[in-house]
Amino acid sequence: ATPTAVMVGVGRLARLGVLVRGGSTVERFAGIERMVFDKTGTLTTGDLRVGDFTVAEGANEAEVRRIIYDMEQFSSHPIAASITAFLKTTSLAPAAGPLTVSETPGLGLNATDNVGNHYYLGAARKLPAGVNVPANADVILLKNDEFLASLSLADDLRKGARTLVQSLDEAGIETTLLTGDRRAKADAAAKELGIKSVYAEQLPSQKLERIAALSAEKPTAMVGDGINDAAALSRADIGISLGGGSAAALDAAQIVLLRDDLSLLTEGRKVAALTLRTIK
Ligand code: ADP
Ligand code: MG
Repeated sequence: ATPTAVMVGVGRLARLGVLVRGGSTVERFAGIERMVFDKTGTLTTGDLRVGDFTVAEGANEAEVRRIIYDMEQFSSHPIAASITAFLKTTSLAPAAGPLTVSETPGLGLNATDNVGNHYYLGAARKLPAGVNVPANADVILLKNDEFLASLSLADDLRKGARTLVQSLDEAGIETTLLTGDRRAKADAAAKELGIKSVYAEQLPSQKLERIAALSAEKPTAMVGDGINDAAALSRADIGISLGGGSAAALDAAQIVLLRDDLSLLTEGRKVAALTLRTIK
């Protein structure tokens, strides 16, 4: 590949809305044989809707809402914005006191209040012994390891997600779903999209390990939007971030889609392939 031809390709990609970083990125993009996708915020819009909101018997709902609200202010995950918007629709109890909050990407939030209570708000994985949660719970709130509330969330596929998977299929490019979301949600999305290979409930470190293994098999691109995807994005043969993604994802990626438009992946790959063909 002559530098001039690659530069022309980079320019064409940029006009399309596909920003390319790094010398050999166009070549590697053209040679991709597998595309791995994050789900929430990547294949889905990230505009999640709260379905069921369940509060433990005997708990004060307005106080529970306030705790969830305050905790989510510390997160930039799409889930946080969705839950915040939902909670604003009814009255919240006044804050009982300050919370010290920390976020674990791919899992959720932990907090302590000023009298030493511990709260966990996040995925319902590895529940404390004896704790039962509703079957459709996507996010649970535990207080001192006891169930306090849960929310179910629905997210919609992005426009063009199905067409994308179809076009990749036709081009002989394998598709894989790699998500932190729970198994049932991941399988449902994959089925709707026609993706056959699914890894669910993956922490950021597991996404990284998975991408390392997949990249060792064949040239693999990873497409993601979150902090939880950043390590995997930098480990893949090509990391691709959505323009609306988190700063960490944008930093880690070699390709950035300037619009959150999934058809840019198919169009961009075609341009990359053409760029190489004309110069061979
Ligand atoms: P994905 O890989 O689909 O983008 P994540 O890895 O970001 O998903 O998140 C996995 C799961 O962790 C979510 O489905 C949710 O249950 C939980 N989670 C992550 N961030 C938050 C948050 N800010 N508030 C509550 N739960 C969260
Ligand atoms: Mg995501």
